[in-house]
Amino acid sequence: MRYYCPNCWKDFWGEDFEICPECDYNIKEFDNKDYVDKLINALQHRAGEVRHWIIMILAQRKEKRAVPYLEKLRKETKDPSLVRAAEEAIRKIQAVG
Ligand SMILES: [Zn+2]
Repeated sequence: MRYYCPNCWKDFWGEDFEICPECDYNIKEFDNKDYVDKLINALQHRAGEVRHWIIMILAQRKEKRAVPYLEKLRKETKDPSLVRAAEEAIRKIQAVG
């Protein structure tokens, strides 16, 4: 199982840390209300792999607020796999039901 720190997006394999060893962020006391903002900010992350992860989470959560940011990413990125991921996410978020 793979985990990401919701603050610095460092990834960890296998171990579910309470405090992020990278940035000391308290993952267990993590407040959900800022989560979408953090996700949207992380769409700018320099690692394409993290962006893919964020797009997937936004799509799963059907975050309508993220759609304009996904559209922006889709237009601005030069990575065709990110374009596809963003398009799929937008479709999924906007799908009825
Ligand atoms: Zn961290």
